[in-house]
Amino acid sequence: MSGEDEEIFREGLGYYAAAELKPAAIDLINKYSGNKLWVGCDCQPSKAISPRLWPVAKKGFRRNLNSKHTQHSTECEFNQDAVPAKRVRASFQRKTRSEGILKFRLATGFTEKKQDDLPPPSNKINRSTYRPGLARLLCELLTDAGVQEINPQDHFPGKARYDTMINDIMLAAANFEIAENRYLCDWIAVGLDGLPGLKRRIAAEQPENWAGMRPHGILICNIAEAGDKELMFDSVELDPLPVLGRIAVFGERNAKDRAPYLAICLVAKDDYTSSYPEVLRAYVHPCLNWSKWTLVDSKLERETVNRAQRCRFGLSKNKNISVKITKPLFDCNYRDPSEYEPVCIPDFLVELLGEKKIPTVVVETMGYTDLRYRNRKKRMREYFERIDVRGSGVNASMVYHDPTAFPDDESAHVGFYEELFKCLVELSIGG
Ligand SMILES: [Zn+2]
Repeated sequence: MSGEDEEIFREGLGYYAAAELKPAAIDLINKYSGNKLWVGCDCQPSKAISPRLWPVAKKGFRRNLNSKHTQHSTECEFNQDAVPAKRVRASFQRKTRSEGILKFRLATGFTEKKQDDLPPPSNKINRSTYRPGLARLLCELLTDAGVQEINPQDHFPGKARYDTMINDIMLAAANFEIAENRYLCDWIAVGLDGLPGLKRRIAAEQPENWAGMRPHGILICNIAEAGDKELMFDSVELDPLPVLGRIAVFGERNAKDRAPYLAICLVAKDDYTSSYPEVLRAYVHPCLNWSKWTLVDSKLERETVNRAQRCRFGLSKNKNISVKITKPLFDCNYRDPSEYEPVCIPDFLVELLGEKKIPTVVVETMGYTDLRYRNRKKRMREYFERIDVRGSGVNASMVYHDPTAFPDDESAHVGFYEELFKCLVELSIGG
């Protein structure tokens, strides 16, 4: 198949497809179908036989789900069916609240043996797979607590800022119900210090008083590294924390230089006969730094934040312009929900503060050199441009932080700073 045809299929039928490009892809499908042809997908280069895609006239591709055949990788754009894709997208949307309360039911009863998030059964969590339950709870909690908003003072982390953040998380936790009439604020340890006390409280509880669920709690803490069966800390004085079940890691599990991470852990007894609660499973995501727990996707995103912060200081000092910087964690695609709509989560949003309704600035960190990843981001552009936080009625402006477009990293960082600065000044004058 020609590269051109491949792009038409990706753009019209892949997971990140645009609805208006679907008809062209279907036309092409109709040409291929009926000839007993199949397409070998290149997402599993290490396998002797590639995963197959069968063109079905007027519909799209049919995957071969028979376990005898090689399956598409979890990252593959053709891995998802329309229906799971809908469910995937739902897992990236904010949960509905009832009277301000968010309900999470993450633990099972003791009779149901398995205590794991389902699916995916893979180690990789990214935007083409489900966001597991623990990750959803973490994202909701941090968003509610304002941790995903990056403030001027976060540029200079310290104990006082850290304590305020923990307090905000505890306050937000009061609106999370984890079992019938059990609220997260009473069953959470934020930081390792609270873990022994949390375990003691859980150990004293009976499932009868938890509507049949196993009594449980949540630990949130910084870690330096995630192993297969344990979490490691930044201090040699702290022993690794064993995890009985799965440790899900956001993004590339073995990528270097991604610490610090924020870990969210489910703490409960493994079995009815267990003498003491333990960490049953965990979800791990890189965060901005040790005292500001904003979830970020990569090391380069930390640099994006650094430069955006400097830009904010420059704007405030020289132009008297104030901005708000956020790292969103939920789907910003406000179009009608349809099975072909992709999850749209831009890397950062920058808003100009003030009376005027000014268009949003979407900042994208172009971290990977993988061409497919970059094309995917380009295709998302139309969704990003539709983001309009302050209701200005005008498309968002895009600013890229892209080291591959510059001879070296430093000039890329400076180039990004200058472009963002210029863009915000122009919006403040023109908006
Ligand atoms: Zn594939």
